[in-house]
Amino acid sequence: MDEIIITGIDIFKSDIKLKEPFKIAIMEIESSQSVFIRIHTNTGLYGVGEANPYWGITGETQSINMAGAVDLAKMILHKNPLNIEERLNEIRSFLVHNSTIHSAFDMALYDLLGKVANLPLYALIGGGKRSFWTDNTIGIKEPEEVAQKALKYKKLGFKAIKVKLGTSFHQDTQRIRKIREAIGDELPIRIDANQGWNYQTAIKILTALEPMGIEYCEQPIACWDFQNMRRLRENTTIAIMADESLFNHHDAFKLAVMGCCDYFNIKLSKSGGIHTALKINAIAESAGISCMVGCMTETRLGLTAAAHIVSALSNIKFADLDGHMMLKEDPIIGGCQYNIGEINIPDIPGHGADIDPGFLKQCECIQIK
Ligand code: MG
Repeated sequence: MDEIIITGIDIFKSDIKLKEPFKIAIMEIESSQSVFIRIHTNTGLYGVGEANPYWGITGETQSINMAGAVDLAKMILHKNPLNIEERLNEIRSFLVHNSTIHSAFDMALYDLLGKVANLPLYALIGGGKRSFWTDNTIGIKEPEEVAQKALKYKKLGFKAIKVKLGTSFHQDTQRIRKIREAIGDELPIRIDANQGWNYQTAIKILTALEPMGIEYCEQPIACWDFQNMRRLRENTTIAIMADESLFNHHDAFKLAVMGCCDYFNIKLSKSGGIHTALKINAIAESAGISCMVGCMTETRLGLTAAAHIVSALSNIKFADLDGHMMLKEDPIIGGCQYNIGEINIPDIPGHGADIDPGFLKQCECIQIK
């Protein structure tokens, strides 16, 4: 095979309004501000990736990612895109954090590899095709409003409700109480405090919520507080899931060794993409920890890449891939298809999602070649 070379990289700045503002304990957003990366090669094949920054979690904004993308694109230009290990090592050693913009490059490189190999992403990483379902997430709102949304989602047919908490004992317990009054006891409720509590508040709230059918609690306390996360896990019957504490395989190893949590929430925007997500899952599996694959507020492109990971790996037990449901616009062609909460992934080479050229025309674009 003749050597494949990267001949150009397009960097697009996308801005899609949300149907309504989305608030979590540490930040609030009104639009989905992704950066799309398109990597062209001398074969005519290209790969596409998406970075959707949550600044309160990864320290990246869209402007930071646009600037970072230019530097990273120059670094990998004219090199072999199929040597993903080497390309990502270059990217990571140059910009040592910035996991979200890394993930766009990683996703585009895997998309390209799948197209060259003529395999869908799930098969490329050694897995099979299965359909699965996602929960639907409710942001921070007044308890009555949260309960109405939960009821709406239940009626639509969602099989689990995820609720953002992390404000105060009174408000957070009221939210769950009102939801249970509205939807009954059947559906599991997943809660996510996004680091909004300290240990004392967390133990008080989780103890109060123990009888209320909580499937697990994501990131109850500060991301750095591994000791108290373990202490919390030892003192509540509610399963604990690490999210903001878990970026990469090094974090996964520490969390597993310390016994801090029952589950991991893997997000490509935190792991820097698929390459490290696979390492996290391998550590999780070795430690007997099941995983969820979650998201930020990506379009269906980023979510499709994540959905392939869920499909391929048997250790992924939960999916929280609902980000695009909040968007006013869906500019993605192909990709995974949603039937309410059920997700079906495409069978074409790569991740199988692309961006509508009409949408891209209105996006600011920087071309590196
Ligand atoms: Mg979370």
